[in-house]
Amino acid sequence: MDQFAKKLIDWYDHHHRLLPWRHTRNIYHTWVCEVMSQQTTLAVVVPKFSEFVKHLPTVYDLATCDEEKLRELWSGLGYYARARNLRKGAQFIIEQLNNRFPQSYREWLQIPGCGPYTAAVIASICFNEKVACVDGNVVRVVSRLLGLCKDVWSSSGKSTIEDYVASMIPEERPGDFNQAMMELGATVCRKTKPNCPACPLQENCLAFANNWIDICPPKKPRREPVNVELFAILVWRKSTDKLAIVDRKNGFLSKTVGFPLLQKLEETQAKEVLKSLPNLDFFELPTKFSHAITHHRISGKVILAQEIENLNFDSWQKLGFTEPFHWFPKSDIASKLSTAFDNKAFKLFLDYQKDYEEGAGNRE
Ligand code: SF4
Repeated sequence: MDQFAKKLIDWYDHHHRLLPWRHTRNIYHTWVCEVMSQQTTLAVVVPKFSEFVKHLPTVYDLATCDEEKLRELWSGLGYYARARNLRKGAQFIIEQLNNRFPQSYREWLQIPGCGPYTAAVIASICFNEKVACVDGNVVRVVSRLLGLCKDVWSSSGKSTIEDYVASMIPEERPGDFNQAMMELGATVCRKTKPNCPACPLQENCLAFANNWIDICPPKKPRREPVNVELFAILVWRKSTDKLAIVDRKNGFLSKTVGFPLLQKLEETQAKEVLKSLPNLDFFELPTKFSHAITHHRISGKVILAQEIENLNFDSWQKLGFTEPFHWFPKSDIASKLSTAFDNKAFKLFLDYQKDYEEGAGNRE
């Protein structure tokens, strides 16, 4: 093993964080934690991961898990499509591969929903394959080591970084080398205020030597976010204290579960229809909330639609909604929602109810 890899792996052996999936080289655990950690912070992932594998301990359990349970186990992690893809992958392993995990990077790429990065993580950690894992942390570390101040985020820039990492991976412990690179980026070579005195690669770092840390890597080119105004309709059945949610098939936040949504453009028309429905009493809550989701800046509002008589599906379709309602007690709703947007809308509703009840109490 050359000096570079040795220094990095020695550092990793002494300083890596103790995460639940690092106890063993369990293929299933590595796969699940990897998918969970994409776009979600470790503070959120760690407890969710332990719960997930406790309830679904094998790939067979995941493949046969029903939608409701999967949604419950995934709630709070966001981007629910990842959970569905994970289950699709598990079904492929059970049905097409006869319950046998793929054994190499190439084979993992055939699993539905498994991209090159996930395949590289699993192949290097579980099968000692020399294949580079390049996430945002690794891009930052390498760009600083090599003093790359331009063009690291393009596909050609990324392949330069991938080639560099691949050339540095040792024969022994390729998985630990990859994990060490990612861990160094996450804990020492941070985006702001990197802890260079604690870095095992300081001698190899051009950015450190030349005082280029602030310009390596260059900022990611930003796409201007699109502003969207979105209304969550909370249909409330007061007699049983239940709320209605839908499986969104199309439109904004499609393939997620939450409250029916209206976009600003549809709002005027929708309010007219809402007014014409005799079985609903509706009004807009005064507070709004903001929410950001890939390239969209959302201004969220809540329309509280209190059911007076049982709302039938025909009336609902007049509003342009095609998905049927599922009614759940208010106390269970939070575990059914699959996006942070819906959780914020729900919180606004709870705050409103609390204020209203306190106000009513004071008036008595
Ligand atoms: Fe990052 Fe500093 Fe280490 Fe260079 S010396 S790799 S900038 S932590």
